[in-house]
Amino acid sequence: MERYNLITKKNPREIVLLKGRPCAWGKCTFCDYISDNSTDDAEMANLNFQILSRVSGRAGALEVINSGSCFELPKSTLYRIRQVIKEKNIQQLFFESHWIYRNRLQEMREFMGIPIIFKIGVETFDNGFRENVLNKHASFRTPEEVAFYFDSPCIMVCIKGQTKEMIDNDIRILKKYFRMGTINVFTNNSTAIQQDAQLVKWFLKKYAYLNEDSSIEVLYQNTDFGVGD
Ligand code: SF4
Repeated sequence: MERYNLITKKNPREIVLLKGRPCAWGKCTFCDYISDNSTDDAEMANLNFQILSRVSGRAGALEVINSGSCFELPKSTLYRIRQVIKEKNIQQLFFESHWIYRNRLQEMREFMGIPIIFKIGVETFDNGFRENVLNKHASFRTPEEVAFYFDSPCIMVCIKGQTKEMIDNDIRILKKYFRMGTINVFTNNSTAIQQDAQLVKWFLKKYAYLNEDSSIEVLYQNTDFGVGD
């Protein structure tokens, strides 16, 4: 599995995919990537330190992802990230966190000592679909609540059961309330959640212009950031 890449297009940054402890929630119906979690501290440290040793600082920015939230990375890995930030003169960090950790974001900002763009897997601002179909366990009711804590939502589009109106609304919210965001076009995996091929066709045509929007990154495959498998 590829675990390091340099993103050169929008928001240039190095990106690393590290291993963390099991996702504290772990029950989203569309998620099958928690198999990359571990409970073996030595194994995680070994792998994570090796991947972090590839960070050069050449983009001045680093994104760290794991199959879960940054708060599930082992302590030793967090210390190593902080060390890499200092040694490689990194000015901007990107982390991802579930809604359940919203009150700990400031703690992480203080620990790392540099600005952090916090991403959150919102998936959709349609509260019913997010909670009843995707089982996301993110209890916010409004975009303003999310924007109070987080900088950059990730939304997921083209899932069976979604409507064009829901997707239009999510993209409108992304542009209105947030300075950046990620749109994942859902691809079938081992879960029962299915892609809607008609929605994909429609989305690709209607939202092709987002490829030129510097504030939105559209992932057509899970591996579009150059990490994962
Ligand atoms: S919060 Fe993220 S890692 Fe955890 S189950 Fe949901 S999608 Fe998977």
